[in-house]
Amino acid sequence: MRGTPGASGLRDPYFPRLGNGGYDVGHYALDLAYDPDTGRLDGTARITARATQDLSALNLDLSGLTVAKATVDGEPAAVSRAGDELTLRPRDELPLGREFTVTVDYSGVPEPLTDPDGSTEGWLRSADGAVAVGEPAGSMTWFPGNHHPSDKATYEIALTAPSRLTALSNGVRVSAQPVSGGRTRTLWRQSEPMAGYLATVMIGRYETTTGTALGEVPVVTAVEPSLVSATAALRAELPTILARQQERFGPYPFGAAGAVVTTDGLLGYALETQTRPVFPAASFDRATLVHELAHQWFGNSVTPETWQDLWLNEGFATYAEWLYAEEYGSVPARESFEAAFADDANWAFPPADPPTAENLFDPPVYQRGAMVLHKLRETLGDGVFDELLRGWPAKHRHANASTEDFTSYAEALAGRDLDEVWDVWLYGEDRPDQP
Ligand code: ZN
Repeated sequence: MRGTPGASGLRDPYFPRLGNGGYDVGHYALDLAYDPDTGRLDGTARITARATQDLSALNLDLSGLTVAKATVDGEPAAVSRAGDELTLRPRDELPLGREFTVTVDYSGVPEPLTDPDGSTEGWLRSADGAVAVGEPAGSMTWFPGNHHPSDKATYEIALTAPSRLTALSNGVRVSAQPVSGGRTRTLWRQSEPMAGYLATVMIGRYETTTGTALGEVPVVTAVEPSLVSATAALRAELPTILARQQERFGPYPFGAAGAVVTTDGLLGYALETQTRPVFPAASFDRATLVHELAHQWFGNSVTPETWQDLWLNEGFATYAEWLYAEEYGSVPARESFEAAFADDANWAFPPADPPTAENLFDPPVYQRGAMVLHKLRETLGDGVFDELLRGWPAKHRHANASTEDFTSYAEALAGRDLDEVWDVWLYGEDRPDQP
C-alpha cells in the first residue's frame, strides 16, 4: 500500500485549515481534568474514526497545549506540530475503510481564541472555573479533533474538577463519582451526532435545576448563584417554548435539553451549544432563548456543510424569533420583515455570501437570512411553508446541508423554480424597491 497524508484542511471558504481530510470521526471520548486555581487542563482524547483514503499520516486541529503522547490502535505514533495542526504518523499505514482509534494525551493552560470578527471563544477561564465554546473554531483550544462542521460525531465528555463545583457539558449526565484530591468526575454523553463547534464545558459554582420537557426529555438548567431568582421565570418557560417549537419544526432532535446562564464578562454572546445553550446574563431574554432553542433543529441537527451556509442557522433561528413575536407578541412576521428591510445594515452583502470571515456573523446573515424565509412563506403560502418548517429538518436530521440543498428542497416542495426569491433575497446585492 502507498498511503498518503490526509489533507491539513477541508478548504472551507472561510476557514480553509479547519478540519482535516482522509478520515471521518465517529466518536470522541474526552477525559478532562481541570484545576481552576492554576487554569491547567489535563486531557486524554480517544477518537474513533474511519479512513476515507489510504493514510500514511493524519492531522487533527489543536491550538496551544502540549501533546505528551499519541497512539493509533494502541501503537505509539510520531507526533509533530505546526500552527494549529497536529500531525500523527502511525507505525502502520491505515487502509481506506479501516476503523481506527487515536488517543492523544495533552495538557497545558488553554488560551482563548480571537475570531476574525474580534469576538472571543474557546476555553474561557472564569474566577472559579471555565466555560468552553467553539463557534466557529474555538474547540481546538481544548481538544484535538476534526474541527469542521461537516464531520459530526457522538461524544462522551468526562470532567474532573473540585467537588464543590458543578461540571456540565452536552447531553445526558451519565455518572458523577468522587475521585482523589477532593474532586468529582462527571461524565456527560451526547448520543446524537454533534459538530465540534457545539461541544461545551461549564465548570463553576452553578445552581442546577432538573426536570423534563416534551414528556421524557431530561432538562438541566444551571445558573450562577446570584442569578437564580432573576432567571427563574424564563427558565421555567423552556419546556413550553420547546413544545411549541416541536409542533412547528417536528420532533425535537435530541435526548436532552437545558440552558446555562453565566455571569456577564466571560462570554460576549449566547451560543446554541448542543442540548445546553449558554447565555451571558445580559442575553438571557425570551427572544434569545427562543433563538438558541430553535438552533437545536436549525444548526445543531441540520448542520451547515461549510461556514458559507451559516445563514441557514441564523436565518431560521431569527425567523423563529419572528414567529414567536407573531404568535405571542402580536407583531406579524410581515412587520419584522419590513423593519429588517428598512435597515441599511442588512444590505451590506447577500446572506449566502459574506465577503470575509470577519463578516460571518454580521446582520445580513441573521436578518436577511430570515427575510429569505419570509419571502418563501409569502411565495409558497402558509400551508406549504409550514410543511417546509417540518420537512427541512426531517430531511437532513442529524446531518449536514448546504444552501443548494435548501434551494432544491424548497423548489421540489413548490413544484417549480423559485429564482425570483433566490435572485433578489438570497444572492442579490441590492435592496429592491419594494419589501
Ligand atoms: Zn444564532
